[in-house]
Amino acid sequence: MTAIPYSRQTIESSDVDAVVAALRSDFLTQGPCVPRFEKVFAHAHQVSEAVAVSNATAGLHIACLALGVGQDDLVWTAPNSFVASANCARYCGADIDFVDIDPDSRNLSISALREKLIVAERGGRLPKVVIPIDFSGLPCDLREMRVLADRYGFSILEDASHAVGARLGNQPLGGIYADIAVFSFHAVKIVTTGEGGMCTTQNPELAHRLRLLRSHGVTRDSKEMIGTPDGPWYYEQVGLGFNYRMTDLQAALGCSQMERLDDLYERRDALSLRYDRLLAPLPVIRPPRLPDRRSSYHLYVIELDAAQCPADRATTFKALRDAGIGVNVHYIPIHTQPDFQRLGFRRGDFPVSERYYSRAITLPLFPQMTEEQQDYVVEALGTILAR
Ligand SMILES: *Cc1c(COP(=O)(O)O)cnc(C)c1O
Repeated sequence: MTAIPYSRQTIESSDVDAVVAALRSDFLTQGPCVPRFEKVFAHAHQVSEAVAVSNATAGLHIACLALGVGQDDLVWTAPNSFVASANCARYCGADIDFVDIDPDSRNLSISALREKLIVAERGGRLPKVVIPIDFSGLPCDLREMRVLADRYGFSILEDASHAVGARLGNQPLGGIYADIAVFSFHAVKIVTTGEGGMCTTQNPELAHRLRLLRSHGVTRDSKEMIGTPDGPWYYEQVGLGFNYRMTDLQAALGCSQMERLDDLYERRDALSLRYDRLLAPLPVIRPPRLPDRRSSYHLYVIELDAAQCPADRATTFKALRDAGIGVNVHYIPIHTQPDFQRLGFRRGDFPVSERYYSRAITLPLFPQMTEEQQDYVVEALGTILAR
């Protein structure tokens, strides 16, 4: 059997046709596909505003700016994420800090957040923005976080990079509790545009700011101008922005992929349920399933519980890789990265994230994975753990 990757994009001939059609059209960028993709995405996530960007990292950056994050502001996120969740605040000159995760959901812990807010209020320095992550596609508990956000006056910027198609209380993510949510279309994510991202919000003023920040802070709308147009060519830079635009080629791929979102979700869901069943006899902790929300199953992460099984993570990981299984680890806690240690964070600062990390292995999961491949992964794991 050839090596099984931990994730893989699903590209159908309809995707190829959509991109080729965009290539042959009049526009390679800023044509009709980007607004169409935004509309399709907003509709699927039941939000009024969607702003496509070049990648989710860029989206997180301008979302922080749109929410007013600047020099000396404070932003909190969870250590169990990709570094981009924390870097976005640093790009704005803000200070970053972390809230440890809940060991069961592996998402930012609401009780740890509540405690940290009490201490922060006493100390006179509350966060301006909190960035929860829907880790592995499992929605973070934003209903309770919304209550805290309103009580303490911070904004919620949801890093929903993993969570296209996920649901909280039967509603898609993107705007019901978060001020802004950001999704990623990197090749390994649920829906891909190669590189790409989407910011969603229910707030038209925030969407307006995001659109300006995405494109140089430049407007062609005379109502937004400070001066008077001296001709039809006239545009104005009304603030400092970036070129964080998505191309029409990418948006054409995105639209085509979104047509299959339900199929992609169902395949991931079926495979994850099958993993749950096959792994039940093994001494591993399976990902949580919560009755009030549905994960998009971007990642299927097991934990090796020392109390149940003596196998150590490094040995198990290497044996799986040697068997041609593309396992991975998500995530090295952000605060343990050298560039964050330089900011003063230390190992031991967020023990739940660190313990989770020491036992986590991401098993392969992608829509085109076959049951035969899945059986092979589980059999290999069973053999390794029985040694
Ligand atoms: C992938 C990812 C990002 C970054 O997305 P890009 O589109 O690659 O910039 C940010 N946060 C999380 C949690 C991610 O998984």
